[in-house]
Amino acid sequence: MIVETVHETLLLIGGASIPSASGAVREIVSPATGEVVGTAPLATAEEVDRAVESARTAFQAWAALSAYERAHRIQRATTYARTQAGEIGRLMALEQGKPFDQSRKEVLGACDTLDYFAAEGVRVEGYTNATEHPALRSWVVYQPVGVCALITPWNYPVSLLSWKLGPALAVGCAMVVKPSSVTPMSPTAFCKGLIEGGLPAGLVNVVTGNGSVVGETLIRHPGVKKVAMTGSTETGKRLMEVFGPTLGKISLELGGHCPALVCADADLDQAAQIIAYKGFRNMGQSCSSINRVYAHRSIHDALVEKLAGLAQDLRIGDGVTDGSVDLGPMATADGLATVEAHVADAVARGAILVYGGRKPEGEAYTRGHYYLPTILTGALPTMRVMREETFGPVVPFAVFDDLDDAVAQANDTPYGLVAYLFTRDYATTIRVSEALEAGTVCVNNGAVNTNYAPYAGWKESGYGLELSRRAVFEYLNTKHIKVQFS
Ligand code: NAP
Repeated sequence: MIVETVHETLLLIGGASIPSASGAVREIVSPATGEVVGTAPLATAEEVDRAVESARTAFQAWAALSAYERAHRIQRATTYARTQAGEIGRLMALEQGKPFDQSRKEVLGACDTLDYFAAEGVRVEGYTNATEHPALRSWVVYQPVGVCALITPWNYPVSLLSWKLGPALAVGCAMVVKPSSVTPMSPTAFCKGLIEGGLPAGLVNVVTGNGSVVGETLIRHPGVKKVAMTGSTETGKRLMEVFGPTLGKISLELGGHCPALVCADADLDQAAQIIAYKGFRNMGQSCSSINRVYAHRSIHDALVEKLAGLAQDLRIGDGVTDGSVDLGPMATADGLATVEAHVADAVARGAILVYGGRKPEGEAYTRGHYYLPTILTGALPTMRVMREETFGPVVPFAVFDDLDDAVAQANDTPYGLVAYLFTRDYATTIRVSEALEAGTVCVNNGAVNTNYAPYAGWKESGYGLELSRRAVFEYLNTKHIKVQFS
């Protein structure tokens, strides 16, 4: 793949791509090389206002269409966006470090999500009630909330946007998107592709800039009726403080610290493969990454050995120049520093470094935020890696003898996003999956996110839900209509 000149991202307002009147931009730096690969404007308050107004205007006409017509137009737009997946994926690989093949697939998956919700939009059903009098009729309908602020993170910059865009568009909302400052290029290009693909100008607007400035200006705007955000728990709490007093609708997908319990009867090859996938893929920068493993004493050593074998086989490199590598660099220098600090803390407190724990060797890795997939054993509850979001390719192991004790340790966290269980026993599957405090429990698999099932963080991992047919209700107001006739 040829890396071209610096990519200039622009604001998307009313269907037009424009620079900010401020002239201020943020440079986007390649995590693989440290070179500037793009710029994105720092939107002004006036531009945020225009974006909301443009969405408000587009909302009137979009909400007035039939759900079937909206579905048709969304599917036409995704058909076009799929043709742009290579270019949007290339921008994602450049800014985020995710290998090109995975980035491109993320864009295609996002189109699938929009299509899933387009089909779901026509299935929003109200209902009628029996009433207290023959001359009364009562029915319930759902109507779109209006303009939505969609605020997204950098780890899956297009996919996590589609989880919000999909239901919002399908039920008739309009929106202003505020992507992460780390990865503004690919989500902006995706939104532009949807408008070029036939969505009305102004229906999807994008403003870029710092979350604490542009993001807060956006959610403080009185025209915004709903906020959907994915990001850290800390930011989620801040959004609650700022937007909560409006009593508008809000849904938050936040941090996680996901445990995996591996029982004595587990299929160890399968468990190792899934732990490698959920521990190392996207350099562990996923809210649903496996962050800590509790392995039964009888299979612990064999499982660690299998995982180390898989870790050694992973190909690491610049996923822009070789799109087929398994792992790229970490997205940010701060993220790499957190990983290094967590591993150092664990080792200082007695953990054993089985594999990784450093940058890969070689000239190719000197400039980027590279780090080897890392396995630790002898992890203790006091270690940072067992309590805080490492958000990197690190899998610490603890041994257990008693399954109930392991479940208690798994639940001993403020997070409650995803938990994993490996067993071949039916009764254990039922008992433990029901005891784990998490919005999603995956037994013998790692396919956490599917369009058809809800993704809802328990405890400090979220508020409301995304995905599944229920997600549309996060973007709808409920209305009871009661009629008396003579
Ligand atoms: P982040 O720092 O919380 O930022 C998320 C988004 O919020 C960014 O667009 C950010 O803008 C914006 N933002 C920050 N402060 C804001 C404010 N005061 N008002 C309005 N917007 C604000 O998270 P991140 O580092 O991008 O993403 C990693 C985190 O996301 C991890 O904690 C991870 O667990 C979580 N995550 C959760 C899920 C899930 O589904 N539960 C999925 C993926 C990731 P700037 O970039 O400009 O600061």
